[in-house]
Amino acid sequence: MKTAVFPGSFDPFTIGHKDIADRALRIFDRLIIGIGYNINKTAGEDIAARAKAIETVFAGEDRVSVEAYTGLTVDFARRHGARFIVRGLREVKDFEYERNLADTNAAISDIETVFLTARPEYGFISSSMVRELTANGYDASRFIPDKP
Ligand code: ADP
Repeated sequence: MKTAVFPGSFDPFTIGHKDIADRALRIFDRLIIGIGYNINKTAGEDIAARAKAIETVFAGEDRVSVEAYTGLTVDFARRHGARFIVRGLREVKDFEYERNLADTNAAISDIETVFLTARPEYGFISSSMVRELTANGYDASRFIPDKP
């Protein structure tokens, strides 16, 4: 059974993230969506709410689980017996950052990173853009996945 971890901040989880997760489910048997956070920077209630929102999106899909973690993603993946990390790539800037992370993870573990490129229609969507719109009174709900 092939298990992959899809790690991210998911603050919030967008339709771009959902698309990557759905496509990863065509490749892997199980997907663990890992909400990586820094204990000193993020309130526990925020993380619990973020996890709950993602779980609701995948209600009925028993191949997906959602869990928050601190520390290194490779350690989180190892704890779950996952040998793959899934990440999304939108633009060249993502690639440079992601390659660095993937190379570091490959240097310290045998966990392989698998990249899926963003679909063009989702390529401009980011959590920070959603936060910015919301903070300024705009309705950003169309960038957030529907609940089934
Ligand atoms: P991080 O803080 O780890 O970058 P994010 O929640 O911003 O976490 O993103 C998690 C992953 O999803 C990253 O690999 C990121 O490149 C990817 N991603 C973010 N937005 C999109 C999108 N619109 N389309 C495809 N991939 C995306």
